[in-house]
Amino acid sequence: MNQSDLMEKIISLCKRRGFVYLSSEIYGGLANVYDFGPLGSLLAKNIRDLWIKKMVQERDDIYLIDGSILMHPKAWEASGHTVAFTDPLIQCPVCKKRFRADHLEGWILEKDNQTGEWKILEQGSLTCPDCKGELIPTVKEFNLLMATEVGAVAGEKMKVYLKGESCQNIYLDYLPVRDTMAAQIPFGIGQIGKAFRNEITLGKFLFKVREFEQMDIQYFCAPENADKVYEEWKKIRLNWYLEDIGLSKERLRWRQHTPEERIFYAKDAWDIEYKFFNDFEELEGVHHRSDYDLTQHGKFSGKTLDYFDPQTKKRYVPYIIECSGGLQRTFLSVLAESYREEMVNKDKRVFLKMKPTLAPYKAAVFPLVANKPELTKKAKSVFNVLKPEFMTLWDDIGNIGKRYRRQDEIGTPWCITIDYQTLEDDTVTIRDRDTMKQERIKCSDIVQYIKEKLNNA
Ligand code: ATP
Repeated sequence: MNQSDLMEKIISLCKRRGFVYLSSEIYGGLANVYDFGPLGSLLAKNIRDLWIKKMVQERDDIYLIDGSILMHPKAWEASGHTVAFTDPLIQCPVCKKRFRADHLEGWILEKDNQTGEWKILEQGSLTCPDCKGELIPTVKEFNLLMATEVGAVAGEKMKVYLKGESCQNIYLDYLPVRDTMAAQIPFGIGQIGKAFRNEITLGKFLFKVREFEQMDIQYFCAPENADKVYEEWKKIRLNWYLEDIGLSKERLRWRQHTPEERIFYAKDAWDIEYKFFNDFEELEGVHHRSDYDLTQHGKFSGKTLDYFDPQTKKRYVPYIIECSGGLQRTFLSVLAESYREEMVNKDKRVFLKMKPTLAPYKAAVFPLVANKPELTKKAKSVFNVLKPEFMTLWDDIGNIGKRYRRQDEIGTPWCITIDYQTLEDDTVTIRDRDTMKQERIKCSDIVQYIKEKLNNA
């Protein structure tokens, strides 16, 4: 399938089936802000739940927090965001579209992290990628932080920022987590939290949005162990996308930051990239951040954030290994990876071959026909047994073939049909989304059947 077509098909499916809506659509929408609809909320929740299960529940060295969106403005000064969280911007004088200069063909720029200014190292193409007009090579710095005010009284309001990256309140909570949990280094703090950025690049659907969620681990370790810990986390995070999210090896790769793009304090920085459509693009950053974050917050807050290691008797500022992935990008990768079209008896079948653990609904229950009360009654009793166990849908509209197609399109792994034989022997058909094969099983075995399949998936 042509990859640009695939993106259009996914966008259309997301809208048609309630995965994703443009925010405030009845008012014409708010550019690059999206809502998860009923199906999308469940997929997003399943991604979050799996991340927490794998990164927190199944480990004994990660603590979960859920930090606030608003933080003391000094935090953003300490982190450098108020001056250095800038993107270099070029605006086409003809079509007025804005582009990131560092993403244009042949352009190489370097940022001064103290001032946030960009220096052009190599000036590339001056042709507008959109209208082919001629660009003027003037780069403007554009701060991505969004500001708001707290306080009700005019004149006494304080300017604060919406989190530009979710990890900052992990750094601020490092001390209370360490103390309240009696945590000993090495340990990590995990968080799934919102981030807000005034992004320049528009029109990339969920890939680049102004409000998004980051799934973050900041792992605190001794300086001498940081290189080893970094390599371990690189393995763990790649494995999550391969094994847990189910992305294919061929569409995933590592990319190391070039010296120009690597932030000055990072010892090393690699991104996990995924081939969403035509190109490989960032899915997660796994970065070796040295002791920069805690040193900065220590300096700006006046608090001691160093650590006394009871074993080695050494005192140090912990090094941080960061794994920061985007929920919206993971969501999009799941759709790009799982979207399938195939011909079945001259009809096109669209299905989402995603991991059953991620599927919004695990099962759908159908009475064979809607106008036979005895079938509906029996089907409702099956439905009521399944609902407390799994997200389950009811569908009695149209013929069974159409109902299968509707479930295929939203990735429901198992469809259960209650037919006349059910009334005789208490068995149902259970149909598999990927193979379309049907089996007959006892009503009393359905829950166990699905549980086993989910555990083995
Ligand atoms: P990019 O250069 O692709 O915009 P970034 O390097 O600015 O990404 P980070 O600051 O490292 O991104 O954020 C960590 C993760 O958060 C990214 O890997 C991505 O998955 C997600 N992310 C960042 N910005 C956005 C955005 N505007 N929309 C959706 N997800 C985002």
